[in-house]
Amino acid sequence: MKPANSILSGYGTTVFEVMSRLAIEHGSINLGQGFPDEEGPEAVRRVAADALMAGPNQYPPMLGLPELRKAVADNNRRFYGLDIDWQSEVMVTSGATEALGDALFGLIEPGDEVVLIEPLYDSYLPIIRRAGGIPKIVRIEPPDWALPRAALEAAFSEKTKLILLNSPHNPSSKVFDVNDLRFIADLVERFDAYAVCDEVYEHLTFDGRGHTPLMTLPGMRNRCVRIGSAGKTFSMTGWKVGYITACADLLMPIAKAHQFVTFTTPPNLQKGVAHGLGLDDAYFTGLAGDMQAKRDRLGDGLRAAGFKTLESGGSYFLTVDYSPLGFTDGDEAFCRHITTEAGVTAVPLSAFYQKDGPRTFVRFCFSKRDEILDEAVARLRRHFGG
Ligand code: PMP
Ligand code: GLN
Repeated sequence: MKPANSILSGYGTTVFEVMSRLAIEHGSINLGQGFPDEEGPEAVRRVAADALMAGPNQYPPMLGLPELRKAVADNNRRFYGLDIDWQSEVMVTSGATEALGDALFGLIEPGDEVVLIEPLYDSYLPIIRRAGGIPKIVRIEPPDWALPRAALEAAFSEKTKLILLNSPHNPSSKVFDVNDLRFIADLVERFDAYAVCDEVYEHLTFDGRGHTPLMTLPGMRNRCVRIGSAGKTFSMTGWKVGYITACADLLMPIAKAHQFVTFTTPPNLQKGVAHGLGLDDAYFTGLAGDMQAKRDRLGDGLRAAGFKTLESGGSYFLTVDYSPLGFTDGDEAFCRHITTEAGVTAVPLSAFYQKDGPRTFVRFCFSKRDEILDEAVARLRRHFGG
């Protein structure tokens, strides 16, 4: 048999799938893969359910239903003061994953350099490499994940096509502040580059941080591709509805990728999401507030169980250092160990590195019901004698 594409076949199954399967096999509480264990706002599901029954269930417009594109543009204005033309500057995709793929395939020419910040969400590198891009990876380091400015500057060159920026960041939960964003914006402008901004956790920031899209900084309006996800904003990760905001000149080539990848996204889900984006401010602040309380609940419990917790400024995740517990076999072995022996699953941080990642950190997901978080902590305390 002739070989399949060597770049993609070189990758194993994603860590999220591997750990979720292991959790099911062992009846473990799955705090690995990031997904809430509640169903999302009833009104949003009701609109989608009614639209499914009433129809139409045929192909919606390629760029997305007008009502959803208008809602995305309205949200850009409501939360960030951005003035967006819904007709030429917004596109709906089947999840942020597709949006990222469309943006990278649509913008990268073989040989272009792409600046990335490691640890890396799993879909970035395979797609960049498959698109012919050359990754230039800069690391942020625990415990504070500070942006290494000199290294970032050194990663940019005349060949840089774009930086892929994820904030709030998965898995570190770092929220890059305005000073970091200014530094990045300056580099993007100086090297005449673009920024693909993965902002799926835009409404999940804590302790009054708020979220600032890079796109709102001076000079960035026409250089940024801003990506959001209904999965995160409405706690329905299975829906896979994403949206891109970008100036028309950038959106056009990205739409070319979309038209050959999925072409459209289920119309009833788009109607539900359009309704969701129209919910009042209380919904969005409530979402972040509830999640912050869960972060604190899990963090307190994990500290009591003997873990050292790192700061989590946003997202669904809390990273911990387990070295105080005395386990020395590495983070993958640790995740397998707590899954099979304690009945709680996490994901190893080293999975977010190309190679030589840190070895004593794991990521727990706290977007779960309080009783589930409490039970997970109780199991870990029982196991480690905390
Ligand atoms: N980017 C990041 C950083 C994520 O954590 C996720 C969540 N899986 C995605 C993109 C993909 O989002 P979606 O489920 O909407 O495809
Ligand atoms: N974003 C989720 C996480 O980081 C998982 C997404 C996936 O399973 N592909 O856990």
